[in-house]
Amino acid sequence: MNINTICVQGGYTPDNGEPRQIPIIQSTTFKYNTSEDMGKLFDLEASGYFYTRLQNPTNDYVAKKICEMEGGTAAMLTSSGQAANFYSVFNIANCGDHVVSSSAIYGGTYNLFAVTMKKMGIDFTFVSPDCTEEDLEAAFRPNTKAVFGETIANPALCVLDIEKFAKAAHRHEVPFIIDNTFATPVNCRPIEWGADIVTHSTTKYMDGHGVAVGGAIVDAGRFDWMAHKDKFPGLTTPDDSYHGIVYAEKFGLGDAFITKCTAQLMRDFGSIQSPQNAFYLNLGLESLHVRMQRHCENGQAVAEFLSTHPKVKSVNYCGLPGDKYHEIAKKYLPNGSCGVVSFCVKGGRKAAETFMKNLKLCAIETHVADARTCILHPANATHRQMNDEELIAAGISADLVRLSCGLEDKQDLINDISQALSCIEE
Ligand code: PLP
Repeated sequence: MNINTICVQGGYTPDNGEPRQIPIIQSTTFKYNTSEDMGKLFDLEASGYFYTRLQNPTNDYVAKKICEMEGGTAAMLTSSGQAANFYSVFNIANCGDHVVSSSAIYGGTYNLFAVTMKKMGIDFTFVSPDCTEEDLEAAFRPNTKAVFGETIANPALCVLDIEKFAKAAHRHEVPFIIDNTFATPVNCRPIEWGADIVTHSTTKYMDGHGVAVGGAIVDAGRFDWMAHKDKFPGLTTPDDSYHGIVYAEKFGLGDAFITKCTAQLMRDFGSIQSPQNAFYLNLGLESLHVRMQRHCENGQAVAEFLSTHPKVKSVNYCGLPGDKYHEIAKKYLPNGSCGVVSFCVKGGRKAAETFMKNLKLCAIETHVADARTCILHPANATHRQMNDEELIAAGISADLVRLSCGLEDKQDLINDISQALSCIEE
């Protein structure tokens, strides 16, 4: 099926007389006739549900849809994008291990890796997404267990050379994990370019209506854990908590990663998405293919308008011919990227503040990828604790604004931006 059809109908096919829409199984627990029946579930000998902290049918319908959209073999939902990225790495990297990551990633993910997971004994080396193959090679260590990147980085809007990162990971016999939140599988399917694990903050375009925080992990089912037995003992040696099963042997290439992630990490950390939120997420997915087109159309129109405006210093949007990532976007994002545009106004911090104060339609929020256009001045919000020099060192200048174009009429957006820019004094 084409992605447009999968968005609408993937993941759930009702039988004769069954509900047309996916049922919300609002139940924490599930009933069995005998202890033996239940025991088989606890031994992972039979598949089924016993407690919603680990798995729920509503979540699995939606995970299956996202799996089909990305072209994977297995998938799971998590309570947030943060949980998805944490689980995807922690499922294979332990205390004493090392991960290579692109430095152009969402700030929350950077903090998770550089601060929280570091405390757990996992080291990260951050490399520029634009680094040479030699620089990338030099980042690997004997204990490297994964490579991580973002298709379109939030907020830098760099487009990752997915093949370059995937090939480097595979040369070093480790999987490549990619966060595909901004592009969504409608605009890029990283598995087709060599990625092994794909993650999402479904809170963004997939939900798209500012309704439900959530995340997803999809496995391409290609990485051969048993061929690198010593590197990934969690998947290739017995798990005593399930009577000694070996995930890679019992569940094979297609299911080992997600089964281990569910059976161990969901069991122990419990970052499950609620079935109600999974239902909302599915409503978002049903129109994702239509909405992404409009987000990209609005992003392109606004970026073009800004790029010729006398009060705008620079614009980042890979759809603009002069953008640093325009050529690479043609390869990975031929149908468009996303609705997020960042730009710098002339006149520094004060000009950016004046611009923000005068917007009427674009709403100030720490969110992106919503049906309603939202905007953020990082120097006054997410990066508020930094002075102007520290901001420059972090790659975020005091005059930078991040604008997430929604689904409104593009001319109305341009008119609002135009009147707010006109309030900046010459
Ligand atoms: N990944 C990306 C690219 C993001 O932009 C975000 C949040 O903005 C996350 C992950 C974290 O997702 P969540 O807020 O759903 O935990």
